[in-house]
Amino acid sequence: MSTETAEVAVEPTVADAVERARAAAGWWAGLGWDGRRRALLAWKRTLAARIDELADRIRAETGKPHGDAVLEVMLAVEHLDWAARNARRVLRRRKVPSGLLAANHAASVGYEPLGVIGVIGPWNYPVYTPLGSISYALAAGNAVVFKPSEHTPGVGRWLAAAWAEAVPQEHGPAVFQAVTGGGEVGAALCRAGVDKLAFTGSAATGRKVMAACAGTLTPVVVEAGGKDALIVAADADLDAAARAAAFGGFGNAGQTCAGVERVYVERPAYEPFLAKLGELARETRPGEEPDARYGRMTTPTQAAIVAAHIDDAIAKGGRAVVGGPGSVRPPFVDPVVLAEVPEDSLAVTEETFGPTVVVNPVRDLDEAVERANASRYGLAASVFTGSRRTAADLAGRLRAGAVSVNAVLGFAAVPALPFGGVGDSGFGRIHGADGLREFSRPKSVTRQRFTAPIDLLRLDRSPAALQRAAKLFRLRHAR
Ligand code: NAD
Repeated sequence: MSTETAEVAVEPTVADAVERARAAAGWWAGLGWDGRRRALLAWKRTLAARIDELADRIRAETGKPHGDAVLEVMLAVEHLDWAARNARRVLRRRKVPSGLLAANHAASVGYEPLGVIGVIGPWNYPVYTPLGSISYALAAGNAVVFKPSEHTPGVGRWLAAAWAEAVPQEHGPAVFQAVTGGGEVGAALCRAGVDKLAFTGSAATGRKVMAACAGTLTPVVVEAGGKDALIVAADADLDAAARAAAFGGFGNAGQTCAGVERVYVERPAYEPFLAKLGELARETRPGEEPDARYGRMTTPTQAAIVAAHIDDAIAKGGRAVVGGPGSVRPPFVDPVVLAEVPEDSLAVTEETFGPTVVVNPVRDLDEAVERANASRYGLAASVFTGSRRTAADLAGRLRAGAVSVNAVLGFAAVPALPFGGVGDSGFGRIHGADGLREFSRPKSVTRQRFTAPIDLLRLDRSPAALQRAAKLFRLRHAR
């Protein structure tokens, strides 16, 4: 089937969903803060009560261990709860100072829903990641049409069915719908006339999404990949740093957008850190069991990318400290620790998205920051140090959307923190107050309370009034 035929075949499904969402959006916005909060919390209770069932669905489609799937849902529910409870506080109309020139006006800003939001999701965290857009978009008063990854359609359908059950009113189910299929369905959603498109996936697809959305001037949020660095200072707790590098690097088979892909260690701590990480890597094995440390590669193509990065790193002179090309035995990949890998290797420049970690020594923390920042990605970063001052300094200098100190992924469980990237990691923010505003349109209102003593906004303005105003202006700004 040609791409064109496929698109024609799927377009009505997406178009129908967007049309239904459009019809329901007014009802949803009209429910007001309290009504929406009640509906969102009802959905939340469904997800929380049926967490094992949802985790089983995630596990079946991604291959991740049950515990990881449960943790993913727990984090997603925490965000949903926060969005539901904080939307009113963040978005309701509030007064702002009107300033000297407009002192006779009362001024306020309120945040209105955009209408219908299209959400396109990835497969690696098929609940946590898209809900970062969906929960916040719904709480801000929008209807949502969600296109889950073609690798996790069942999770997407489950979420929409749970919503329909929790919000059964006439228009309820149309407020959050799932449409499933591959890239062509995502492309159709981009062209469907939604009011904003929130995309999570690779930077390469993000470019296509933006290009498709450009046709209708549909604004986009792009949450793309990462090549996140972890910096280990000589004064760091090396056991904690190694444990975090192992979790951030190998957890979820390395298929985490903000996982640890590169580690830069200050020279004096380099060998001890490498030894500790090596030990953890050697005792870690993936498996199919529900309680395995991590599971299979979710997609059939990913293992080949991981293998290519390992081969390239070794060919360019890197050292395989744990594992190597033989660690790739699809659908599993054993942990791989690569050391002294040249900075122009694929394993340093490209997102590997596998359970491999590159560990390189650095002269000092300045070099660590320089190397960490020398990436076209900038999603998150981690710093391990015993000094709070050093941590604050490095956090300020790292080119990333989020920095965790003495931990990895610290931001993930803090709903009040915005999340998003720099450069090829994307733009726009989900989560937190910024995430709620991302799916809103600010509207400014002024109300004239009395006629200004110096009234300049009239055609018959007196020259004397302008002179007085100009004098005041110079006194205020030209001194
Ligand atoms: P992907 O780019 O292959 O696909 C993402 C989604 O886009 C899928 O639903 C896919 O069907 C859809 N799609 C494909 N072609 C399309 C097109 N032409 N138009 C519209 N939609 C299209 O990414 P993936 O492999 O599913 O996910 C892995 C990537 O996601 C990694 O790069 C990872 O780092 C990133 N990710 C980022 C975040 C974040 O929050 N920044 C979170 C999770 C994953």
